[in-house]
Amino acid sequence: MAETWLKCTACKNPIPFGATHQVCSVSTCNRPRNPMVFCTVSCWDSHVADARHREAWAVEARAPSKAAWEADHASHPSPVMTAVPAAPVVRRIVGDSGPTGQPPASGSSGSSTTVNLADVVDRDMLVVVSKMKKYIKDRSGMSCADAVGDVLSEHLRAICDESIRAAGRAERKTVLERDVPRPPRR
Ligand SMILES: [Zn+2]
Ligand SMILES: [Zn+2]
Repeated sequence: MAETWLKCTACKNPIPFGATHQVCSVSTCNRPRNPMVFCTVSCWDSHVADARHREAWAVEARAPSKAAWEADHASHPSPVMTAVPAAPVVRRIVGDSGPTGQPPASGSSGSSTTVNLADVVDRDMLVVVSKMKKYIKDRSGMSCADAVGDVLSEHLRAICDESIRAAGRAERKTVLERDVPRPPRR
């Protein structure tokens, strides 16, 4: 049994030194301090569903040998990825929803840096605020501040992340109902 290099970002399975694994093509997913590594394409798949990259693919990479890794850690505080952006294994276009509905293949809209998009997407409102307000009003007669929707969106993202991890552990590419944690009793 080979020694563990890093754990899969999605399912937390160990990735041994020297093992073939997948990394994300998006640069912000490969920050040297906290690189995202995936044991399988399906684990990367669950990550990409979460990150909602506009355009991303899994890149096959090889983990460093233990000797190389330790030597690298001795000389630099942060690890260096050995990802070789050679042949994309899987290519996936996610969220093709440009304002004009223009397909990304034909020259793209220029202003869309994948990097920034991921950050913006993370702050999206995930709840229907009017329906949430109506629920609170109907149930309690209380009104509700708009910012409540932001906090609820944070909760939803956390629940989605947990569901993604559950689907990843089951080696599925689809998040199912059973992956979603049950709501607390009311
Ligand atoms: Zn995995
Ligand atoms: Zn990514």
